[in-house]
Amino acid sequence: MIFDDAQGCDSYLEHLAEYLDGELTEQDCQVLKQHLSDCPPCLDEYQRDAIMKALVRRSCACEEAPTALRSRIMQSITVQVTTVEIHRLD
Ligand SMILES: [Zn+2]
Ligand SMILES: [Zn+2]
Repeated sequence: MIFDDAQGCDSYLEHLAEYLDGELTEQDCQVLKQHLSDCPPCLDEYQRDAIMKALVRRSCACEEAPTALRSRIMQSITVQVTTVEIHRLD
């Protein structure tokens, strides 16, 4: 178990990249997924990382993401962040 509950969310966020790369064990995977389903701010972070990773993957294959797609993705990220911030104010 690589997560430390005493560190709270930081402990989970630290390993998001490994999760996205499929480098976690199945057990750690389940624990992280469980945390994401209970923790909207971490889920939001995960979704942004997943989108960024998809863009990076595309450029690695020498296939730049089209500018229109990229700006649409950036826009949806901004909308998500704004929604979370508004929700937190409630
Ligand atoms: Zn969290
Ligand atoms: Zn798994």
